[in-house]
Amino acid sequence: MATDTVGDIAGKSVGEVATTPGLVVETRGLRKTFESEGAPVRALRGVDFTMTPGEFVAVMGPSGCGKSTLLNIVAGLDTPTDGDVCLAGEPLVGKTEYELAIMRRRHIGIVFQFFNLLEGMSVLENVTLPAVIAGAPRKRAETRARDLLDLLGLGDKAKDAPGVLSGGQRQRLAIARALANEPTLLLADEPTGALDTATGEQIVELIESVRAQRGTTIVLVTNDPEVAGAADRILLIRDGRIEEAPHSSGTAMSGV
Ligand code: ADP
Ligand code: MG
Repeated sequence: MATDTVGDIAGKSVGEVATTPGLVVETRGLRKTFESEGAPVRALRGVDFTMTPGEFVAVMGPSGCGKSTLLNIVAGLDTPTDGDVCLAGEPLVGKTEYELAIMRRRHIGIVFQFFNLLEGMSVLENVTLPAVIAGAPRKRAETRARDLLDLLGLGDKAKDAPGVLSGGQRQRLAIARALANEPTLLLADEPTGALDTATGEQIVELIESVRAQRGTTIVLVTNDPEVAGAADRILLIRDGRIEEAPHSSGTAMSGV
């Protein structure tokens, strides 16, 4: 007679996902299908992807290949149709909206291409607010926000409205805000896409210095090969699948 077989079939029992200790991100067999009018859109078709602490990965691929979908799922902003995703060793599949919000607050900083800044508030308030929402005392949140603005070269803009800043300054502000809660993982979706080359380079240098100073793990979606060149590794996505994972920087080949 069959006995109770908890977890008998690998990967099938919800809430019993085996996670690999020490990984910041781990996805296995990640699929996402959007049901729309007409044919369903298979945005992700089986993505296996891991990140270790402090790693900097650039995600590249043609428009519509699934880059933003992947980021949204890793951030817990969207749920996969199939497969597993773990953040800091905790499975996200099966969590409630509320639990996901707590995971995000604890671990994630997000920078979108078009800033998503609160225009009715000052620069300082934009960076203070996330920590206050997370429960930090206002004084401490504000001190940390000032430190971040200094770090990102916006110390003298604290009282300004975001609207008076240049594109590069606005993107730096978005990064400062994403860092307000000292995230484990910074997710940046085409953060240099709307900027000129020189400003884009500054943003990348800034992201690199954040990693150097804080050990933040970074996923950066970009279509700019130069921007991607700053990463440890490039994840190339095509039609919802990873096409190529290794990056040239660590290659044993010395020719050329
Ligand atoms: P990328 O960021 O690489 O440009 P996306 O992840 O945004 O690509 O989109 C991948 C595919 O999924 C595209 O075909 C896109 O149109 C589709 N898609 C994304 N979000 C939705 C949605 N909410 N509803 C329906 N289709 C979507
Ligand atoms: Mg996108």
